[in-house]
Amino acid sequence: MSNTSRDLDTSRPHSARMYDYYLGGKDHFPVDKQAAEAVAEAYPGIFTCARENRAFMHRATRVLAQEHGIRQWLDIGTGIPTEPNVHQVAQSVVPEARVVYADNDPLVLKYAERLMRSTPQGRTTYIEADVNDPDSLLNAPELSDVLDLSRPVALSLNALMHFITDSADPYGIVGRLMAALPSGSALALSHCTPDFDPSTWEKVTAIYTGAGTPVQFRAQKDVARFFEGLDLLDPGVAVGHRWRPTGPAGPETPTDAEVSLWTGVGIKP
Ligand code: SAH
Repeated sequence: MSNTSRDLDTSRPHSARMYDYYLGGKDHFPVDKQAAEAVAEAYPGIFTCARENRAFMHRATRVLAQEHGIRQWLDIGTGIPTEPNVHQVAQSVVPEARVVYADNDPLVLKYAERLMRSTPQGRTTYIEADVNDPDSLLNAPELSDVLDLSRPVALSLNALMHFITDSADPYGIVGRLMAALPSGSALALSHCTPDFDPSTWEKVTAIYTGAGTPVQFRAQKDVARFFEGLDLLDPGVAVGHRWRPTGPAGPETPTDAEVSLWTGVGIKP
């Protein structure tokens, strides 16, 4: 990709900045707010979806650190920093945790120093990279500075793979990334789905596509395919808020349609 196309383009909405709006952040432009509000009009659950997506990331990261001995993370499609970020969750359990972040939005790079506030015992770094080119990402010198690929790594792909349509070989990409990681490594993934409200998600798809961001929201069985060859942790591919909730369900518990997110964690045998 040329430098020009990597420049910050504030004339068109961008997924990272729309997501920042859903999370109540301040790092977006009017054009992003406008597109995000169109999504929220079609799908008012989007704010719940974004919040539950972060909550899944927190729980999955903690489970991997506490129960599976994971000490290293590769988080692709990091997004604009939102506290706590992956390294803050991981390092709250294991201070020596190491995290490599990657995103292809130049705006994320602008804020990357917020991702570098590591514990003294741990390490973090940020790479501007595209998941569509997994080999460049894996071969980046910054990655091997921070991660030891001979030891288990958790690949975290949260709310990313629905931006990779089938024509771009999403399963091949995840397979290539997991192939580079040793046994005991993990895949933690979340992915928006039309399963609970197809007509709403048709509208959401049209808004993103119309804004120049191709998307493919997938059914549960197609999200499950990302975990082929891995041992899925209980409860399998579950709606975000149902993946190992920390408290009992109550009146505040959202509906599956509001959350509309399949989530799962698998371990490489
Ligand atoms: N993982 C975070 C943010 C999700 S928003 C979370 O779950 O909270 C999706 C992010 O993916 C955005 O920051 C966007 O810039 C990034 N992204 C989209 N397509 C990408 C690609 N091809 N390569 C790398 N990052 C990408």
